[in-house]
Order: sequence, then structure tokens, then C-alpha cells
Amino acid sequence: MRWKNAFVYTLREDPSEAELAGHRLMLRAGMIKRLASGIYDYLPLGLRVIRKIEAIIREEMERCGAAELLMPFVVPAELWKESGRWNYYGPELLRFKDRKSNEFCLGPTHEEVIVDVARNAVRSYRDLPLCLYQIQSKFRDEVRPRYGLMRGREFIMKDAYSFHIDEESLDETYRRMHRAYSSIFRRCGLDFRPVEADSGTIGGEVTHEFHVLADSGEDIVVFCDRCEYAANRERAECRREQSVAPTPENAPSMEEVETPDCKTIDEVGNFLGISADRTIKTLVFSVNEGEYLVAACIRGDKELNEIKLRNHLGADSVEVPTDERLRADTDMTIGYLGPRELKKGPLREIVADYSVAGMSDAVIGANRENYHFRHAYPARDLQIDRYADLAFVEAGRACPRCSGGSLLLRKGIEVGQVFKLGRKYTESMKMTVLDEKGEQRYVTMGCYGIGIGRTAAAAIEQHHDKDGIVWPTAIAPYKASVLCLDPRDAEANRIAAQIHDELEARGIDVLLDDREERPGVKFKDADLIGFPIRVVVGGRGLAAGIVEIKARTTGRVDKVAPSEAVEFVVNALDSIS
Ligand code: ATP
Ligand code: MG
Repeated sequence: MRWKNAFVYTLREDPSEAELAGHRLMLRAGMIKRLASGIYDYLPLGLRVIRKIEAIIREEMERCGAAELLMPFVVPAELWKESGRWNYYGPELLRFKDRKSNEFCLGPTHEEVIVDVARNAVRSYRDLPLCLYQIQSKFRDEVRPRYGLMRGREFIMKDAYSFHIDEESLDETYRRMHRAYSSIFRRCGLDFRPVEADSGTIGGEVTHEFHVLADSGEDIVVFCDRCEYAANRERAECRREQSVAPTPENAPSMEEVETPDCKTIDEVGNFLGISADRTIKTLVFSVNEGEYLVAACIRGDKELNEIKLRNHLGADSVEVPTDERLRADTDMTIGYLGPRELKKGPLREIVADYSVAGMSDAVIGANRENYHFRHAYPARDLQIDRYADLAFVEAGRACPRCSGGSLLLRKGIEVGQVFKLGRKYTESMKMTVLDEKGEQRYVTMGCYGIGIGRTAAAAIEQHHDKDGIVWPTAIAPYKASVLCLDPRDAEANRIAAQIHDELEARGIDVLLDDREERPGVKFKDADLIGFPIRVVVGGRGLAAGIVEIKARTTGRVDKVAPSEAVEFVVNALDSIS
């Protein structure tokens, strides 16, 4: 492809709106163009990257026995009403009406539509398992679209759905998909981790997220330096600390101390001259939107993980009520709460993180304005109903699975997720099949998504330098570029075109930069766009009988005879891909 035909428009300056490398470099390299907030044009260079990722995904999906279909982007409200999500899904769902006042939405995900497709075709257990996928634009009216393709409103997703007669069959497909996802991200040249994730309010189900490791990631992933254990931060388990320690015989008695205006852990710690890990924080949560209250205690230096609390209670939601609400509903002494003589009244129970069990000689709120207790020992003094794992894990903690391993925390970008859905949609949308005994049975489902634009953006976050993108070869827009430094020199032109044509004939996608531009501009653009290999053809080199071939990743330059250039590039690409 010649530069002029390829529609490549690079920017000299960094665009001011881009904070992340992936966003900045995609705009600068002319891969995408913003049309509206979170909505982008995919320009030819960007689209080539998208198509390459898609091609890898298609191969791996077909290998899993998944068949491709394409469902509409515009989805009638009836299906969403049937599943119950029409009212449940928040404002991210873009709802609208057509000229006849029929209600529709733009699909943010397609469980409803796929169930509608499958329930009309699948009648018997003999038709299962079945796995279907599509690659299509999704729309989610995100509150804060940002970072270019990383968090768009309209974005391209691969979404796959599987149908099964039982859990065992789902498990098998889930494992196969998990493996396929690992192959996909490996083939895209990414450093990634599959991690256990929280399944949200569905509860009890299994799900894994695939994260590309990058410092700019918005999520935190936790993994063991020894074994396979890996989870996202919401989910990561803490190793259970010791059970409640017996109180030593010489332990001082608990006593009340005046702590005027000391409401926070820091204020109490400063006032009493102790560190936060000697104090116990007591927090009150409203469960299931006000159904009941619980108090949760945790060591003062630790952070309570509300998702763990929600899961522990088996609740749909937990939230911190406002102080006004608490004052209105209870007579609790906000700011001085503690797990001793805390009037249970409106509280259903008092739970505590394991970190509390291992404490001794602690400071707790006295449930009296301006007072705390000191010398509190859990076994003797605290009134805790249950201990559980409720804390966010910290780096360096012992691995919950193996002995000797410790946990590392890294930033990650979620590029894909696999999910055992169970019968959530098949029950609400009445998808049954006849089982072996001739009885109707609800079908069990799995779903599997990959953000394609986000994968491209994450690849840049992981692979760039000060000059531009350093594409992993498999997903580079072109694998090679040929720069003709002297387009007015007939010989240079001829040789450059010949190398380009021969590379194309060998099946290598290559871009010929034959613009009437200064060499510096061409070098800069080649580095910015990030072609894995570039071949430089200039009058001076030709006079010396050479062309220069440079690898973007290593910066290594080889001088080879023009007649050997094509073979050299083919071999170089083989060795780096
Ligand atoms: P997030 O937590 O980042 O909002 P999600 O967990 O809601 O994402 P899923 O429903 O799991 O997203 O969608 C599958 C994949 O689609 C994600 O793993 C991600 O790669 C991609 N994706 C989701 N939302 C967006 C978005 N707004 N822009 C680009 N890609 C997205
Ligand atoms: Mg997800």
C-alpha cells in the first residue's frame, strides 16, 4: 500500500485531551478521530489493528467450536422487559422510541437477543452444547467516557454465549473459553493475567477477568509470587489470621478514657499516642437498601471491602448510610462506635474482620460522646457475632492458597471476562429443552466478552516508548514500512517500490512511504506509527550498495544489499513474531 492511498494523517503535537499513552498515540498516529464524547471514527490504520485482533479472536473462537452470527445493534424493549433488565439496568442503557412509539435500546450486551435466537431453534438436549459469538458495536452511555477506545460509549466487543444441558457441560466449555482467551491475548503479544473476579449481585457464580498489566490500568489485580492464585482486588482473599486469642492473665482491665472531639482513627491515635493498628474501626452499613443494619469492625489501619461484606451477608447491596439517616433511625453515638455495649436495637449483627481477632490491648469507641475504651482484648471485651474475611488485601500478605507465597499487587486493564451465567436468562425468558428423560429443563448458560478497541489501547499502554507505539507484530497495522528517502531519485524510487511489491507478494502487509517529505519527517512518522520493521532506501545508501533495515523493538539496524532486503525482512519478522 502506498502512503497516499492509505489515508495516514499523523499529528505533530500531542493532543491536549489525551492523558494516557494509548489514547494520545492513537490520535497522533491517525488511527482514530473523536466524533463525540466516547464515540470515535476508526481511521484506516486503527481499523487494521482492530481487524487483526478480530482475526485472532475468530480463529480461536472457531477452534472452540463457536459459530459466528451477527445480531442487531438496535434491540426491541420487549426482550429486555422479558428478562427484567429494562428497569433494572441503569442510565447506561440508551433507550429510545421509533416513529410508531415502539421502545428500543442500543444493545450494551446481548444475552436477551441470543436467548431469543437460541430458544426458537434448540429443542432437545441433543442440540446442546451450543456456542455462538458475534463481533459488533455495543453502546453504553458511560458516565465518564475517557481514554479514547479504553472506555468509549460506542465500542466494539466480541461477545460469545454458550448453552448447556447441565453444569458439567458448562464447566467444560468455560475451561475451553478460558484457554482460548489466554491464547488470544498471548497471540496479541500482551502480558496479561486471568484473575478470579466477583460475579456481582448474581452471587455464587464463577467468573474470571483477563487483565493486561499496565501502570495506567484502572483496576488492581492481586497475584501470588509462587502459585497460580490471582484475583482482582475486590475479590482477593486474605489468609485467615489466628482465631481469637485468649486474653493473657496479666492483661490490664479495659477502661474508659476521655477523648474529646476525637472521631476519626487518626484523631484518636494522635490523642492517645498510639498507631492506627492498635485501634478498631466500627462502621455501620445499611443492607438491601434499608432492610436492616449491620456493624462491621476492622483493624484501624485496614480498609473494609464492601463487596466481601455483601457476599458474607448474602445480601444484594450494602451501603454506608448518611449520618443524618443514622441519627434519624437510631440513637447511635456516631464517631464513637465500638463493639462493646453497642446497643443492638436496629442492628441485626456485629461482624468483624479476622484482623480484629488477632489484636490485643486495643482502643475501641465507647458508644458515648467523647469517650473510648482502652486495653480492650477481643476474647474478653468485644461482643462480636461473627468473624470473617472483610478486608482489602495488601501487598506482601501471605497467599491464601499456598504456603510461602506472598501477594503482589499490580495495576491492570480489564480486556475480557468469562462468566458462568447459569439460568438467570433462560428462566426469565423461558428457554427449556427436553432432557434425556423427556422432561423440560431450563438451559444453563455461559457468556464471554472481549473489548476489541480496549485491547488495542491496552496493547499501546504496554508497548510504547518516547517516540511512539511499539506494536506487537501480530497486531501492527502494517508489519513493515519501506521509506524512500529520495523520491525524486529514480533509482531509489524503483528499488523502494520493488522491495515493497515483493514483500506484498510474499504476503506481508507493508506501507511504502514515497511522500515528498524530509527524511526526518518520515523517520518520526514510522516510529510514531510503530511498524515492527522499517526498510530505508536512500540515494547515498544505494551508492554504497546497501539499504538499512531497522527493528522497532530493539532499535537494531542492519545494512543489507537491496537484493537481499526482502528475504531479510521475512526472516526478521519470523523471528520476532
Ligand atoms: P468495566 O468494568 O471496565 O466497565 P465491564 O466489566 O462492565 O467493564 P463487560 O460487561 O465485562 O465490561 O464487557 C466485556 C468487555 O468489554 C470488557 O472486558 C471490556 O474489555 C469491554 N468494555 C466494557 N465496557 C467498555 C467501554 N465502555 N469501552 C470499551 N470497552 C469496554
Ligand atoms: Mg467485565
